[in-house]
Amino acid sequence: MSQSVCILGVTGSIGQSTLKILDNHPEEYSVFAVTAHSRIVELAEICKQYHPKVAVVPSKKVDELRQLLILADLADIEILQDEAGLIAVSEHPQVDVVMAAIVGAAGLMPTLAAVKAGKRVLLANKEALVMSGDLMMQAARDHHAALLPVDSEHNAIFQCLPEGYFQAERNGQPKMGVSRILLTASGGPFLNHTLEQLQSVTPAQACKHPNWSMGQKISVDSATLMNKGLELIEACHLFSISEHFVTVVVHPQSIIHSMVQYVDGSTLAQMGNPDMCTPIAHALAWPKRIQTHVPPLDLFVHSHLNFQEPDTLRFPALKLARQAMQSGGLAPAILNAANEIAVAAFLNNQLGFSQIPQIVEHTLSRLENSAADSIDVILQADRSARKIAQQFVMNKGN
Ligand code: NDP
Ligand code: MG
Repeated sequence: MSQSVCILGVTGSIGQSTLKILDNHPEEYSVFAVTAHSRIVELAEICKQYHPKVAVVPSKKVDELRQLLILADLADIEILQDEAGLIAVSEHPQVDVVMAAIVGAAGLMPTLAAVKAGKRVLLANKEALVMSGDLMMQAARDHHAALLPVDSEHNAIFQCLPEGYFQAERNGQPKMGVSRILLTASGGPFLNHTLEQLQSVTPAQACKHPNWSMGQKISVDSATLMNKGLELIEACHLFSISEHFVTVVVHPQSIIHSMVQYVDGSTLAQMGNPDMCTPIAHALAWPKRIQTHVPPLDLFVHSHLNFQEPDTLRFPALKLARQAMQSGGLAPAILNAANEIAVAAFLNNQLGFSQIPQIVEHTLSRLENSAADSIDVILQADRSARKIAQQFVMNKGN
């Protein structure tokens, strides 16, 4: 029987790649719900092509979408709004699979709703897991949700882990012969920039990733290495492992998507051309494999693969994220919120690239850490961190 899919963030880079895969498998999957935030014309085009049952947009965009759908003779598509609408489609009884591809903290509540409804959740929205870590993982266990990593590194690790890994006891230690996770990083567009050069880079330069085509926020995160920091935290939660068992390896070609080391001296890697359609298809069909348009890897073309250690002096965001994971509690949520504000301000030309980690560090130092034992506490920490970070932006660090 065909699987019914809800795509949160359908107008984004991951949303579009998801549609591309569904196009190749019309018998197996149908689109039940789609959501967007600002690109309403694009959303209406998607509705024309896929005819979902429900579309979700912010309340101020409902009229615009309704007009477009009436013009296209699609008035039967139900329009829901705001976070309540996002949650309603995520937990909808007719939905089997939820692609969580909203960017940032805005995706937390709908992703959690999908997990609590026991769906197959394809997790692209790493910020949601960084914020709510243990709560999200516990909810997945309690509600028998399959929380499957779409982030290419985590998907690679998932593919390299031994069978039965997730059924084994969880205590922060590697298990079933696993000794270490090697999380690869491209190093981003400024891998070889000096500290001085980093001070004057522009948003356009930061968004031009050498290997991947992605949304603006994750592109900037890749440039600061905060993306790797968020992914380090994501890996600890997904694979129930302490941060000191995760080594970040800079691998500029992005051909190896991450590795798992074993106690017997083996290192397993997952490789492929850098195209998000591979991990999306894997998570969608797991444990089956389905066809994508991604060409097979030609190792005669990619004959040089390089590896180096990350430089946390030029890219302090990675160190801050590791420290936040060590501190635990609300620190990752605070780090994430401050980073979201800093990245938005950088993209808006309100502050320099090098100030992004400064804002994060400042915000972490200003807020008291405590246990992240409820969603309300996490959301409160998120709000407080945003206020402090915003203040820093207004004062430009003075
Ligand atoms: P994009 O910016 O391309 O897309 C983000 C999507 O979220 C869009 O559909 C956007 O709507 C929607 N959105 C933005 N803000 C809100 C909001 N406040 N409320 C509801 N919806 C909102 O991002 P990506 O697709 O690149 O990334 C999505 C997630 O996947 C991120 O968490 C990212 O870290 C993760 N990821 C992405 C990868 C990639 O290759 N792109 C790789 C690995 C992980 P609209 O466009 O209509 O404004
Ligand atoms: Mg990634």
